Amino acid sequence: MATYPGKDIERAAQAACGSASDAGAGASGSSEPCAGCDAAALTPAQAAAAAWDGPVAPIAAVEPESPADDAGFTAGCYLTTVDGQPVRDIIDWRWLAAEDAIAVGYIDQDGEAGEVELEREAGERWGFEFDGVLFDKVKLCRNACVFCFMRQLPEGVRPSLVLRDDDFRLSFLSGTFVTLTNLRPEDEARIIEQHISPLRVSLHASNPELRRSMIGRHAQHGLDALDRLLAAGIQAHAQIVLMPGVNDGEALRETLEWAWARPNIQNVGIVPLGFTKHQTALHESFTGPEAACGVIEVIAPFQERARAERGGPWVFAADEFYVNAFGAETPAHIPPASDYGDYEMFEDGIGIVRSYVDEFDEAVASGLAARAADALASRNLQARYIIGEAMQPFLDAMIERSPLADRLVPLTVGNDYFGGNVNVTGLLCGCDIAAAIKAEIGKEPVSSEEEGSLPKVEQGTGSGCSDRASSAATETAQWAVSPSEDCLSESGYPEPVPGQAPEGELFLIPSVIFNDDGITLDDMTVQDIENAAGAAVCVVSCNPLDYLPEIIALAERENVS
Ligand code: SF4
Repeated sequence: MATYPGKDIERAAQAACGSASDAGAGASGSSEPCAGCDAAALTPAQAAAAAWDGPVAPIAAVEPESPADDAGFTAGCYLTTVDGQPVRDIIDWRWLAAEDAIAVGYIDQDGEAGEVELEREAGERWGFEFDGVLFDKVKLCRNACVFCFMRQLPEGVRPSLVLRDDDFRLSFLSGTFVTLTNLRPEDEARIIEQHISPLRVSLHASNPELRRSMIGRHAQHGLDALDRLLAAGIQAHAQIVLMPGVNDGEALRETLEWAWARPNIQNVGIVPLGFTKHQTALHESFTGPEAACGVIEVIAPFQERARAERGGPWVFAADEFYVNAFGAETPAHIPPASDYGDYEMFEDGIGIVRSYVDEFDEAVASGLAARAADALASRNLQARYIIGEAMQPFLDAMIERSPLADRLVPLTVGNDYFGGNVNVTGLLCGCDIAAAIKAEIGKEPVSSEEEGSLPKVEQGTGSGCSDRASSAATETAQWAVSPSEDCLSESGYPEPVPGQAPEGELFLIPSVIFNDDGITLDDMTVQDIENAAGAAVCVVSCNPLDYLPEIIALAERENVS
């Protein structure tokens, strides 16, 4: 699953729980007013859209001097039809508006409905920018996957995190994985007619009984639909959630053979079962070297054959398998960048380590790492970069061998919020980060003779870490944090205010931990984290070639010596 749901999912979740915060219709996935809507708060256009019998596309902006602008459309209007056809989503819009003359149904700012003819020059844009990509309801899943992560979340998480979407349109538009078990004949016909391809499909197992045992009684419906779509020329990226003793070993071989026999399955990504502490049925995944190596060995012959016959490895194991198999030696074993192509499975945890390692090596080779180390050393600073436990085995070793040793010191944070085997950086929560920072700054400062030669920090959360330099660490309490709200970095997050961070340390949080609204999975903002930690933090990029220049800039602003 993607770490954060898209805007359409956020809105669908709001609609499902009756939130009126997005009052009106359209991208929330429903043209009906949600239960919590305050009708009096709606604009005339929103009220008319809510009452409209069909999907409505909210117009967020209109390009000046475009056909849409010439016709008088403005942000806040709605588009209802094109040539009399409903516009269910952005795919429909692109499909229906492909001609250079169309009749557009609308609801204007006054709530009046109508239709207007639009024309454009060849190649000209219509000038509409829509709010969201789905203009009717998000299609929900009807499965009961034994490994469903959304069923393993703590109580009280925001609704969008537990909204179980299974929508082929989001698969095409946003890269979410779908099972196709909810596909109706008309959906299938539409996918073929509009060539909605490629889709990202959750495969898991080709054996019907096994697949049924993993995802529920509609499993075969989805597999049959996939087969028909593939035969009709639709392409698919397949994903397998691998469960030890369930669909690994021989079952995995069978599934890969099944997929290999269907050339329109462009590739297969294998991710290990993830489980949290908020459930009791799941206890193990591929965390041990032997289990992780076993998976890499099963896929190796398929990769060999694919390289020879299709020019690439075709099947990919998630980075976690390599880290669990090889630990600190992961960089020597992870496949080369050429295997990952355009890193299209990056968000699924496939290729992140290779990309990170290569960027780090490039930063060392170019002198960027040395410049960052110098900038930190000149101000007697350590950069404490927050990471999940999954990164720690190889990142520590890489930094140790680089000019950044002792200056860039990852602060490894365990994920107590989710627990279980959740250990990737992207799923870290604000509460755990704040606790880890607080534990760090609460430690004893180094003695005077240690200053200037900062001791190495053992990795681990809280009590596992050794003392390290922060000559002002014991003064943390006096830096009651109140970051200036008008001090924003390019990324839109508050920048640290000189003098607020504990002297000697820059706490850096990778931006992947926050969603587009600057909120963590446990609904904390940067300021919430700072308040809970008792220290200023800064949000930086996730990639070495981006965050090292940011570290240099931050160090140069610090006034400590
Ligand atoms: S398809 Fe399975 S894993 Fe995905 S939301 Fe539905 S039950 Fe959960």
